Amino acid sequence: MSDSSFIFKHLSDLLAYLELPMDEKYDLTPSFLLQVPLHYAQKIEKNNPLDPLLLQILPLLEEKKQKSGFTKDPVGDINATQEPGILQKYNSRALVISTCACSLHCRFCFRKHFNYESTEALPNRLDRWLGSHPDVHEIIFSGGDPLFTSPSFFKKLTDSVLKHETVKTIRFHSRLPVTDPDRLEPLLPILKTIPLKKNAILVSHVNHAKELDEKSSALYKTLREARFTLLNQSVLLRGINDTVKALVDLSYKLFSQGVLPYYLHQLDKAEGTSHFEVPDSQAIHLLENIRIELPGYLVPRLVREIANEKSKTPLC
Ligand code: SF4
Repeated sequence: MSDSSFIFKHLSDLLAYLELPMDEKYDLTPSFLLQVPLHYAQKIEKNNPLDPLLLQILPLLEEKKQKSGFTKDPVGDINATQEPGILQKYNSRALVISTCACSLHCRFCFRKHFNYESTEALPNRLDRWLGSHPDVHEIIFSGGDPLFTSPSFFKKLTDSVLKHETVKTIRFHSRLPVTDPDRLEPLLPILKTIPLKKNAILVSHVNHAKELDEKSSALYKTLREARFTLLNQSVLLRGINDTVKALVDLSYKLFSQGVLPYYLHQLDKAEGTSHFEVPDSQAIHLLENIRIELPGYLVPRLVREIANEKSKTPLC
């Protein structure tokens, strides 16, 4: 496999590449399609069905199970929608669904059932909406992955925010630094100009130390030098990062790449993700133990997002 832009879309190809046999628990026809860039697949240990990166991307028949409390809109996105693609949950901040696309499909995704609309008209809509909402001081670009988009659309979208004096901070939530960092390169010239005009924050989504590599390190360095604040949020996932060692290793590795751990999220209860759930009692126990191992600045806040609440809810 030499084409670095290659993306696995068929389970049989991915299993062959990873030297893994087919298993009857895998789902060959998932409704949330398999999508794995080669860059991410290269970090998965071959012939290891329990690799923590593999478990994040492998479609299982378990996803078809219904479990009480697991819904299609786990964090109240529908109720928070102000206009198509513009959501407001918390005071002074608004969230923009920049795109439906992601480089990697995470099986535990909280927006796997989200009804994405076309984003073509989003820059004008956002510009107009911000004009009538001067109390909004921070724009959070989310998705999908807001950095997995074309430079021309990205420029239009960010320009529609940069022109508003009332917006002081622009934040991007992205998994691209660890899933397919080369795809982010064309956006760098635009990204680098943002901290010259506003506070700029990148919140990566990294769940395991093995996801971080030389490429993520180089990318973070570039963004740090451009004066981005770099934070990370993780999701606590059963069998993937639900040990003291995994979480401690992740915090240290993030710090070695200039990124501070910010949130450790309890799983958002999206339909078809219950097999990833870690009970609250276990999550709190883990946090208490990593607090013993780590300096305070490397301990993420353990939180849950509860639909229609006015902030994230700390669990301990
Ligand atoms: S990168 Fe984020 S939005 Fe995209 S599939 Fe993963 S969790 Fe969902």
